[in-house]
Amino acid sequence: MSASRRRPPFISLVVPCYNESAVLPLFHETLTQKMGELDCVGYEIVFVNDGSRDTTLDYLRTLATLDPRVVVIDLARNFGKEAALTAGLDEARGDVVIPMDADLQDPPGLLATFLQNWRDGYDVVLARRCDRSSDSWLKRTTARAFYNLHNRLADIPLPQDVGDFRLMDRHVVDALKDLPERRRFMKGLFAWVGHRTTIVDYTRDARAAGSSKFSGWKLWNLALEGITSFSTLPLRVWTYLGALIALLSMSYAGFIVARTLLFGVDLPGYASLLTSILLLSGIQLIGIGVVGEYVGRIYMESKQRPIYLVGARYGRGSLQSPESRPHEV
Ligand code: UDP
Ligand code: MG
Repeated sequence: MSASRRRPPFISLVVPCYNESAVLPLFHETLTQKMGELDCVGYEIVFVNDGSRDTTLDYLRTLATLDPRVVVIDLARNFGKEAALTAGLDEARGDVVIPMDADLQDPPGLLATFLQNWRDGYDVVLARRCDRSSDSWLKRTTARAFYNLHNRLADIPLPQDVGDFRLMDRHVVDALKDLPERRRFMKGLFAWVGHRTTIVDYTRDARAAGSSKFSGWKLWNLALEGITSFSTLPLRVWTYLGALIALLSMSYAGFIVARTLLFGVDLPGYASLLTSILLLSGIQLIGIGVVGEYVGRIYMESKQRPIYLVGARYGRGSLQSPESRPHEV
């Protein structure tokens, strides 16, 4: 065990919130109670308001005045969970940092086990859902398919059934902050930075209140983001597919020449001609589409826009207006 781990840590909890007013009071109460039982020198809860349209911000602002451990980062608009998490990680000051969802699906009861593993020398403690029965059948099946496909394509595998809920040591968070990309697929970035990792299992309950913010379409885009951020295989596969089709065409051409020499010319073949034209144009369009995905990503990265913009921040004794800190990267 390193010397720094013999003393209790300062803990940062990072909580992205998008329209979570229904669940936040219960979340804060449950968390505060559990944190009181932990062996730590202190803690902070960094709430990131990701452009909520309900009363989330009002509640968080009040909370920041009542609880000195609460810090609120109010993003200028909804930037999505990945950007909100990045904002929270940038703000967190703890020796260990723990991203958590606001809906209590990430159980605060697991924090003591996280800390124990950290004390045992692990830099990253992952929480794995051993029971996903609170998710729908469709979500479970598509999630499994995504992990399988992603891990087949990408060099760095994503651990199955592990979300953003995890403990990270300070130097892991610093390593994450050094990654320059703007489009951030956090699960992949977490896996990429590596470090000494262990896994603890937990049962994922249903949301305590409110509804899921991830529609099927959002999840599909997240999956695309994940694969295209961490693999170039979808780009390269067209070379092989093209070579295979060319080989097949040449063999077919050879067959036609031989057949013509042996049996003469016959005209039929309209249907097969049409089918092959349609099939090949379809394949070509898919190929162009995949290239387009990557070119789009290069384009977005090349603009070098900040990952998020902070509108205002509350708590930590410093109340800063949007004018004083407009551009946060
Ligand atoms: N979230 C966010 N920005 C978004 C969508 C979601 O900050 O654009 C937050 C949300 O408030 C919650 C967490 O991300 O704290 C996980 O969202 P949710 O529980 O809806 O996802 P699910 O558990 O259904 O996958
Ligand atoms: Mg949830």
